[in-house]
Amino acid sequence: MKKRVAILGSTGSIGTQTLDVIDQHRDLYEVTALAAGHDTPLLQEQIRAFSPKHVFVASNQDASILTDLATMDEADIVVIATVGLSALEATIGASTCGKTIAIANKETLVSAGEIINKNCKKSGARLHPIDSEHSAIWQCLLGEGKPRKIILTASGGPFRKTPKSEMPSITPEQALKHPSWNMGKKVTIDSSTLMNKGFEIIEAYRLFGTAIDQIEVLVHPQSIIHSMVEFVDGAIKAQLGVPDMRIPIQFALSYPERLPNPVIPAIDLDTLTTMTFERPDNDRFPCLGLAVRAITLGKTYPTVLCAADDIAVEAFLDRKIKYTDIPAVIEDALSHHKALDTFDAQDIRKITTETHEYVRSLCQGR
Ligand code: MG
Repeated sequence: MKKRVAILGSTGSIGTQTLDVIDQHRDLYEVTALAAGHDTPLLQEQIRAFSPKHVFVASNQDASILTDLATMDEADIVVIATVGLSALEATIGASTCGKTIAIANKETLVSAGEIINKNCKKSGARLHPIDSEHSAIWQCLLGEGKPRKIILTASGGPFRKTPKSEMPSITPEQALKHPSWNMGKKVTIDSSTLMNKGFEIIEAYRLFGTAIDQIEVLVHPQSIIHSMVEFVDGAIKAQLGVPDMRIPIQFALSYPERLPNPVIPAIDLDTLTTMTFERPDNDRFPCLGLAVRAITLGKTYPTVLCAADDIAVEAFLDRKIKYTDIPAVIEDALSHHKALDTFDAQDIRKITTETHEYVRSLCQGR
């Protein structure tokens, strides 16, 4: 029996690479549903190539249909490759009905991880991480007990060595250059401020239940080790690979099996001369500390972290605020927030909108 896959966000980078992986394994997987933000020539091409039974286009259909796709009996695996919170309800829905959820989207896990985890426990749904670091940690943890430490690796971004005094004058052009991975603008800025790594600390906490103070970030500019796990006996396991998202995508689909894939290049260890590691500088990269603060406070603080970052990054790209204002306005938004003890998807939406408005007004005043 082929596994039936629903891909939410099929025309984005993770979506297209997921279809790439499925194309290599058409005997094992079939695409039952595709969802995209807009009806584009790429979506039409995907429909022709994979003949899905269901297609959803966010710009001209009712959003609740997306949740129907994520929860329908015809889907065994739901791939969450959407941007922002667009698949919030759909992911929560999939977690209530026992799906295998291959998740690439950070915002949903950061904001609604508590709800999703609770649902998974009840329904037997499983979260398979697609984020390369979390896939690495997941692979290192297979067959193991509780780790002593999770070591999340980070490329460090383009400003790893920039003196603090020069950081306020960083331009969007400088920040949009990323050394290893080719990504969208928002993620590229988040990688440069290390907020992306901050989100990943929260993701790791959600996915593996490891205490926050047992999750460490280590800068590894070569991005060959995708993350590591340390155990009680001092042994450390690491997962290495070329920076190619098709590796974590394929494993999220094929777990517990591993599949060959001729189009994914192997690392050439002979040409790999150096691997270096250094601690991140929390003083120059305050976003890391803000993420830790948000998840330590818990409740709806992680939602505020995500929402504040959305607008801060947008305002920086629009040259309304300085690079160093990004963490400053996020900190303001966290301090301003009055958290809810219990909350659902609707509350997350409401807090996101309120935070967007609040941070927009902050950015205007700067
Ligand atoms: Mg990552």
